Amino acid sequence: MMIIMKANATPQQVEAVIEQVKLAGLNVHLSQGVEATIIGAVGETHNVPMERFERLDGVNLVQRITQPYKLASRQFHPEDSVISLDGLSIGGNEIAVIAGPCSVESRSQILETAQAVKEAGASALRGGVFKPRTSPYSFQGLGEEGLELLAEARELTGLPIVVEIMSQVQVDVMVKYVDVLQVGARNMQNFNLLRAIGATRTAVLLKRGLSATVEELLMSAEYILAGGNTRVMLCERGIRTFETSTRNTTDINAIPVLKNTTHLPVILDPSHSTGHANYVAAIARAGIAAGADGLIIEVHPDPAKAVSDGKQSLKPEQFAEMVYQTGQIAQIMGRRLATSRDFQLVKNGWA
Ligand code: PEP
Ligand code: MN
Repeated sequence: MMIIMKANATPQQVEAVIEQVKLAGLNVHLSQGVEATIIGAVGETHNVPMERFERLDGVNLVQRITQPYKLASRQFHPEDSVISLDGLSIGGNEIAVIAGPCSVESRSQILETAQAVKEAGASALRGGVFKPRTSPYSFQGLGEEGLELLAEARELTGLPIVVEIMSQVQVDVMVKYVDVLQVGARNMQNFNLLRAIGATRTAVLLKRGLSATVEELLMSAEYILAGGNTRVMLCERGIRTFETSTRNTTDINAIPVLKNTTHLPVILDPSHSTGHANYVAAIARAGIAAGADGLIIEVHPDPAKAVSDGKQSLKPEQFAEMVYQTGQIAQIMGRRLATSRDFQLVKNGWA
């Protein structure tokens, strides 16, 4: 249920309504927008009559949220959510480009990649240290040693780091190091993990499951939001279809659908959605044209030697070209890329 306060409602009136929501046994989620203060009353609301709140002082309107996801819905939070990461804003007018290797392999590999993606205009660095591999015999990641290396790369470049978390037992070590916790496709419905992340205040990149619907993705986001962590971004990374010419099928439709149904930023991963380096730039361009708030791209200094996902990894020069192209599309959309703080547009032929 949403209780929309009058524009001139006083803080005391807002407090009094919150008190009543709590007395009704519901959880309070306050959203103070530019237009209005909205008090979300979340929980078993079906037995609670709307009239209970309608007559309270300062209340303009009480509405039921029709979707099964409440806090994630645009109805509850009409304005776009903007996630701030140390100078970088994701979800506003600027488009974030997160780039880096599938896996952190060595000190030289991650430092070299971090420098290269920064020079090409990336706004954040990705790298996996706990890898969800299909085979138990494949490289599983460097673990905490990899986190140390990513922290060094952040120190060197100033780029915030995005790293996949696979289990709730990793929460403590991960929040010490990372700026964004990535929840991988295979863990989208690991509800214990989602709850554990909901209890942190670290930003989250929640990837869509291999065969999850948009609504299921939003219900997973709701788990994190319900825990009080509002810093959630969603990621379309391709879904399984009958088509085999690409690793997955990019559900480009999901981008405008999500932009319409939720206020959370939407990121596209054309690396995993296509599975081929040759197709990544085309789908990245399509994603920005469709309204995505950011991209996450796999980049490796020598893709042929990558221990995971080399086939879909861009070389730094291919990545630089993709950044340039998507930057042009962003301009047509009235937006701009959020390049790293000291990125030189002139040097890269942008101005
Ligand atoms: C990854 O980002 O390297 C990854 C494993 O992605 P996904 O969970 O989308 O497969
Ligand atoms: Mn990968």
